[in-house]
Amino acid sequence: MSLLVVGTMAFDAIETPFGKSDKIVGGAATYIAWSASNFVKKINQVAVVGEDFPQAELDALKARGVQLDGVEIRKGEKSFFWSGRYHMDMNTRDTLDTQLNVLLNFDPVIPASYEDSDFVMLGNLMPSLQMQILDRLPKAPKLVVMDTMNFWMETAMDDLLKVMKRVDVLTINDSEARQLTNEYSLVKAAKKILSDFGPKYLVIKKGEHGALLFHGDHVFFAPALPLEEVFDPTGAGDTFAGGFIGHLAATKDISFENMKRGIIYGSALASFCVEKFGAERLREVTQAEIEARVKLFVDLVQFDIQLVD
Ligand code: AMP
Repeated sequence: MSLLVVGTMAFDAIETPFGKSDKIVGGAATYIAWSASNFVKKINQVAVVGEDFPQAELDALKARGVQLDGVEIRKGEKSFFWSGRYHMDMNTRDTLDTQLNVLLNFDPVIPASYEDSDFVMLGNLMPSLQMQILDRLPKAPKLVVMDTMNFWMETAMDDLLKVMKRVDVLTINDSEARQLTNEYSLVKAAKKILSDFGPKYLVIKKGEHGALLFHGDHVFFAPALPLEEVFDPTGAGDTFAGGFIGHLAATKDISFENMKRGIIYGSALASFCVEKFGAERLREVTQAEIEARVKLFVDLVQFDIQLVD
């Protein structure tokens, strides 16, 4: 049993009100893999990078148990590039530039060694490519989780709606949920997505305001950890998704109750991600630190109350 991860592996240039990064390694699948590797020992990575992508990053991921047979390196081409600027609240941002580069001619191949992929994380990527992955899977997975972003809603909505029909869990942020449904109320947006769009579970990420999990009439809320300093929120959503599906794949339990625990693990991992630029903090985080942070989440929301009945 293992986890297949697909998404961008990329270069990012990030501006925050407090500083600016050079071109650093990023990409949805990069963050997902770093995060999920804390839970799953074999990750089957599918992505495309250009000749410019650092071998050292690939080697570091490989050392974490991330299989790279499905990562194509295209000679003479450039990796996906994204640049964004965060607003003063560090919770919202504008995309300044998106260069698809290698994504434009990507024809993903799923290696035979990936046939044990029971859990599939469709990280942020061109929806037609996410669809190709589902079409090319050697067997039906136990669970498919998908993440996407406003960029694809604006450029490939038809394909996005098609692939959404085939996923079990959708993770999007609050503004994307509103954009997708034209509903301001997140409860109404969730109802619409769950009844009309395909997924049976929906996670709405609200950045520093936590995350909501919807399924049928059930709702679960997890806060984000109040952090004194947020250095770079890039990749927090992907890191969250990696922790969420990583926990589900490791426990092989896809019940709503276990998804709640997945949300907490995802939130804990995301709280590390934002502490340093890029995936730097995720590379060094230990199991003991993760457990200690999960304990902080438990303490944060635990209270006793006497109800008058
Ligand atoms: P997050 O902050 O979790 O939303 O993810 C940020 C990461 O997503 C960055 O490292 C980018 O390289 C990557 N990214 C940005 N835009 C896109 C896009 N349109 N498709 C796929 N990945 C993207």
